[in-house]
Amino acid sequence: MRHRIAVVGSGPAGLTFARVLHRHDLLVTVLERDPARDARPAGGTLDLHAGMGQLALAKAGLSAEFETLSRPEGQAMRILDTDGTVLRDWRPRPEERNNPEIDRGHLRDLLLGPLDVQWGREVRQVVPGGRDGVAVHFADGRRETFDLVIGADGAWSRTRPAVSPVTPHYTGVTAMETSLHDVDSRHPELARLIGDGSVAVYGVNRALVAQRGNAGHVKVYAQFRAPSTWHANLDLTDVEAVRSSLLARFDGWAAPALDLLRHGTAFAHRPLFVLPASHTWTHVPGVTLLGDAAHLMPPLGAGANLAMLEGAELAESIAADPDDLDAAVRAFEEQMWARAGKWAKITAAGLERLVSPDPAQALALFDQVQPS
Ligand SMILES: Cc1cc2nc3c(=O)[nH]c(=O)nc-3n(C[C@H](O)[C@H](O)[C@H](O)COP(=O)(O)OP(=O)(O)OC[C@H]3O[C@@H](n4cnc5c(N)ncnc54)[C@H](O)[C@@H]3O)c2cc1C
Repeated sequence: MRHRIAVVGSGPAGLTFARVLHRHDLLVTVLERDPARDARPAGGTLDLHAGMGQLALAKAGLSAEFETLSRPEGQAMRILDTDGTVLRDWRPRPEERNNPEIDRGHLRDLLLGPLDVQWGREVRQVVPGGRDGVAVHFADGRRETFDLVIGADGAWSRTRPAVSPVTPHYTGVTAMETSLHDVDSRHPELARLIGDGSVAVYGVNRALVAQRGNAGHVKVYAQFRAPSTWHANLDLTDVEAVRSSLLARFDGWAAPALDLLRHGTAFAHRPLFVLPASHTWTHVPGVTLLGDAAHLMPPLGAGANLAMLEGAELAESIAADPDDLDAAVRAFEEQMWARAGKWAKITAAGLERLVSPDPAQALALFDQVQPS
């Protein structure tokens, strides 16, 4: 019997799930809110770990393509003191492929491949328990039913309320994101500073991180501890006002760090929200969650990796026993909760150390996790 399966969201979780299911010749409907594939910029770069994101791509049969698209040299990491002194300068050996970087846009295109995503299908509500299946209500007023609905719709999931009343809470750390374009020709000194990978500067309760993507594109994140209302008197759409506010906040830092803010184009506000570290729920037949919808955590290199691995594992679990969807989902949920709970604690502790009253904590964390 062919089950009617839908996944809400075409981020790393939803697409990996759909792609692995497709590889096993099972049908899935992908429902995405964005009106088109390129409706918004795909975002910065992601590092995919060998046993997580890369394993998921192997399960999707996409390892060779990943090898071509990824940037192992992007693993390089430089840490500066706020006075500009280089404290660490780590470069990967040529064979080092534990955490290569890939642009989000390239990853999305790789996963999309033959998938037929339904764009412009914003889900408002998911209601399990109906006679003809789980009902999905759309923003345009339409309604469809499925045997299984998977919420891979990110931090502010509309699927989550069908299984759990929990909502994300603010960590006390916020971030402003900006971009540098054509960095090699327009800002050669910054290009040298950032190198092939990332540069980070850690100060008291604040940090500046710049990451190189493809084609001279750089994302810069200014992170700091602040109440959620910190911008009450600031117009976040006024680029120069935001720039001045950030330069004042990072006052006294050396020129190269501040130049990352001086040359940034538009600014986007990205306050860091999380779900409780061990978010579980009583199993609800016909609905489950993947990725950020299930376990939103600080952005410390785990979220997309977990999302993809979970997508691949759930798809394989369904493919192994397509006649018993509920058993496949239950087994998957237990595995997801155990692993995500561990990562949520690791990343929460990591955030405390990276944006900390004692910047030495950030350096100590780097030394702890970085291969020598
Ligand atoms: C600055 C930053 C850097 C990061 N760096 C890394 C990294 O290097 N490595 C790493 O592993 N993780 C990283 N992360 C975390 C990572 O981005 C997320 O964990 C990951 O994107 C989660 O994937 P997802 O598919 O669960 O959700 P998302 O990527 O949020 O995708 C959700 C999808 O659902 C769609 N959607 C939302 N609501 C609806 C709706 N109502 N109806 C239909 N569709 C909907 C959205 O449009 C979107 O396409 C980073 C995060 C940030 C903010």
